[in-house]
Amino acid sequence: MSCVSPESKPDWKAYALRELDYRDQDAARQAETHLTNCPDCREELATLRLTLDTLSTLREEEIPQRIAFVSDKVFEPRWWERAFSKTLGSPTFAAGVLVAAAILVHGALRPGQAQVDAAVTKAVSQVEARHALEIQALADMVEMRDKQVANMYITNAALIR
Ligand SMILES: [Zn+2]
Repeated sequence: MSCVSPESKPDWKAYALRELDYRDQDAARQAETHLTNCPDCREELATLRLTLDTLSTLREEEIPQRIAFVSDKVFEPRWWERAFSKTLGSPTFAAGVLVAAAILVHGALRPGQAQVDAAVTKAVSQVEARHALEIQALADMVEMRDKQVANMYITNAALIR
């Protein structure tokens, strides 16, 4: 099937959108006459109307007022987000916060400051004792090295002679 008179084929889009009615009464009448004689154009108009009806059932979306840019204020991190990334985002600080939180929780769960103080004192003394041992071990090692070096000199001197 094809249009009976393509040379005088009306603008069916304009007709379907009722533009022809407003602009030109003659054009509208001619279109209706064409329609009665042309099955092809009837089909075209029916399809157009179906499309328009379908479009009209679609939910209306609010058109964005404008495009937002990444540099816009709304995309800037909030103060607490910035604080988070600068502090908690840092592994060292995060570890520190964890330790502080653990101490706080520990303190909160265990009633009695004296107990906490005793535990801290014990932990500190243990660390100090371990440090003292380590320092002593280092000192012993240095002393041993000194003796080794002195012996080497004595040995060398003996060999040279
Ligand atoms: Zn036609």
